[in-house]
Amino acid sequence: MTRTLITGGAGFIGSHLAEALLSRGQHVTVIDDLSTGSLDNIRHLVGHERFRFAIETIGNEMVLDRLVSECDVIFHLAAAVGVQLIIQNPARTIETNVMGTEAVLKAALRYRAKVLVASTSEVYGKSERVPYSEGDDITLGPTSRSRWAYAASKMVDEFLALAYQREHDLPVVVFRLFNTVGPRQTGQYGMVIPRFVQQALAGQPLTVYGDGSQTRCFCNVRDAVRAIVGLSETPQAVGQVFNIGSTEEVSILEVAQRTLALTQSRSAAAGDPIRLVPYAEAYTEGFEDMLRRVPDINKIGRAIGWQPTIPLDETLQQVIEHYRS
Ligand code: UDP
Repeated sequence: MTRTLITGGAGFIGSHLAEALLSRGQHVTVIDDLSTGSLDNIRHLVGHERFRFAIETIGNEMVLDRLVSECDVIFHLAAAVGVQLIIQNPARTIETNVMGTEAVLKAALRYRAKVLVASTSEVYGKSERVPYSEGDDITLGPTSRSRWAYAASKMVDEFLALAYQREHDLPVVVFRLFNTVGPRQTGQYGMVIPRFVQQALAGQPLTVYGDGSQTRCFCNVRDAVRAIVGLSETPQAVGQVFNIGSTEEVSILEVAQRTLALTQSRSAAAGDPIRLVPYAEAYTEGFEDMLRRVPDINKIGRAIGWQPTIPLDETLQQVIEHYRS
C-alpha cells in the first residue's frame, strides 16, 4: 500500500486528488496552511481511517521532514495560485513557489520519496503558437510586470525538480496543469468559471474581460486527477514534463453564454446579462492576457494512455450544482 503526502491537499485539486488516492486504497496525508485551501474541501474525508491532515505551512521544516519521512510519494501542489492573487501578492507568490518546492525536494531527497511537482500552463508564457508542447521554447514578458513572476517561479520549480532527478537520481515527475475546473473551485482568486456560475446564480451580469474572444480549454478536475495518479504510477514518467489539459477550445464569451443558458439565469432581467470589462480595470494597466491556450496532450497519451473524457457542459453542470447546494 502506498503512503502518499499531498502538499496543498485542502485546495481544489488537492482535495479531489486525496479522494482518488483513498479510493485506490492508499494512505493519504495532507499538509495545507489554508492560505487558499479550505477545511470545507476535506471535511468529508476527516475520520477516514487512511486519511490524516496537518494544518501547517510547508515552510515548517520539522513538520515537513516528519511527514515526508512517513511517505513514499509526494504530490506537491502547495503554491500561490490564480492570476489575481499573483498580481496582488507578487512577493508571496515567488517565495511560496520557489522556497516551498525547494523545501519539499530537499526533504524528499533525505528519504528518497518520489515527487510529483505541479506546474502550470502559465510557463508557456505569451507564445501564440498553439497547441503548446512540453519541449517548446518559452517567451515571458518583462520582470516589471508581476504577472510573469508566476510563470518564472514555476519554471524555477521545474528546473529544480529536474535537477534533483539528474544530479541525485531522485524520482520526480513534473506536470503542467492547464485550466482545470470542477466542484469546490473558488472564484475568489479570479478563476473564471466559478465566478461566472456564482454571478449567474445571483442574477448579476457576467464579467467578461476584454472582448471575450480569448479562448481556453477547460479540463474537468476528475480527468486531471486521473492523469496525475496515472503519472505517479508509471515508472517511465520519471524525469519528464507532461501537459494535462483538455483540447476542447472555447471562447470566454461562449463560456459566459453557456453558463447563462445552463443556469437559466435571471442576469438578463437587470439589462445586459454580460458586462465587458476592460483588462486594465479587471487586472492592472498593461495586463497581457493569452489569446489562446491549448495543450498538446500527445505525450501523456503515449505515456499512460490518458485523454480527457468529460465535456465542458457536464463540468459546468457540476459546478452549478455545487454552488446551488
Ligand atoms: N476572465 C473573465 N472574467 C472573469 C475572470 C476571468 O473574462 O471574471 C477571463 C480571463 O481574462 C482569462 C480567462 O477568463 O482570459 C480565464 O481566466 P482564469 O483566471 O480562470 O485562468 P487563466 O487562463 O487566466 O489562468
